[in-house]
Amino acid sequence: MTVTTENVLTALRTVQDPELFKDIVTLNMVKDIKLCNGAVSIQVELTTPACPLRGRIRGDIEAAVRRLDGVQAVDVTFSSRVRGMGGTKNLLPGVKNVIAVGAGKGGVGKSTLAVKIAAGLSLQGAKVGLMDGDVYGPSIPTMIGLPTVAPNLEGETILPFLVGAAENPLRVMSIGFIVPKDKALIWRGPMVHGVIRQFLEQVRWGELDYLVVDLPPGTGDVSLTLAQLIPLTGAVIVATPQEVALADARRAVQMFQQLGVAVLGVVENMSCFVCEHGVTYDIFGRGGAEQMACAMGLPFLGDLPIDLRIRRACDAGEPFAELTGEGPSAAKLTRIVQALAGQISIRNLAQPAGKAVRLEVTE
Ligand code: ADP
Repeated sequence: MTVTTENVLTALRTVQDPELFKDIVTLNMVKDIKLCNGAVSIQVELTTPACPLRGRIRGDIEAAVRRLDGVQAVDVTFSSRVRGMGGTKNLLPGVKNVIAVGAGKGGVGKSTLAVKIAAGLSLQGAKVGLMDGDVYGPSIPTMIGLPTVAPNLEGETILPFLVGAAENPLRVMSIGFIVPKDKALIWRGPMVHGVIRQFLEQVRWGELDYLVVDLPPGTGDVSLTLAQLIPLTGAVIVATPQEVALADARRAVQMFQQLGVAVLGVVENMSCFVCEHGVTYDIFGRGGAEQMACAMGLPFLGDLPIDLRIRRACDAGEPFAELTGEGPSAAKLTRIVQALAGQISIRNLAQPAGKAVRLEVTE
């Protein structure tokens, strides 16, 4: 018996997406079917390029199609489309620059730097939003001093929290405002996609010069979703100088590069500790992140020491602390913020905001 496209489609209707619980034909994931002397080639578009279940989907497709009479071989290829702005609706028309702050590893100070960058840009007079995209461990509510409040709503619109000076407040939104603090957050790809999309679409960000997004550590779905939904100006990578942190930071850099997102620079956090007697200790080593940036051809935005005052300000919910004044970190943080603003300008000169970033991942 000769196999037909209809037979194959019927077989594919028995294959479910394991996360969405619908068959892959109904979900419009089957993009192409080619038949040639009993060999069937099927192209499937995944909902997320890093779909962890692609192996299972492939196995289910092969099993279902091989059961058809006349089928001798089945070849499945995956593709995934990341939509940039080309032809698609801009979800954030009032936002000039979106900056993702990422890290390879947790605990290296990514959220701290996201807060300080946002607050620092705001202190320089820019209109700034801070979005906590770290769905697995949202720490922004604590760091801005609003750990347990729920956001106000106006119909379907979520109002961001306004933090700092009334005339130019920082606008902040976090998953931590919505999910109870002690509740374990288990997120699957489509859920992550949903919440990030909701934050982009439903939060009233208004007109912003910068929206700073604190990403979860690593190379997961939030980064992919963001790159799909909005044109990112670029990413900042935070790393400590220790080799284990740097290895993961390199992977984070590579992920952004694969997504077509510019890496605006690398920050070395916890680069040393100066004790009360003025002795410097390089607890995690020193200079490693700068060397990594240099080796990868990336801008180095600056370093920040381990500073008890920074830790205390984070815990006390004071986002603007240590950005001004005489403390050892103020000059360092100002340098980081200015270097980043400079890189953003260079980037925007080279590539006007809103230009499409389009990615096709094929396996
Ligand atoms: P990540 O977002 O990478 O998981 P955080 O920003 O939450 O890391 O930082 C982890 C902890 O380290 C926090 O308690 C924070 O206050 C502290 N921390 C981060 N950077 C510094 C620093 N330069 N000096 C002192 N404490 C810091």
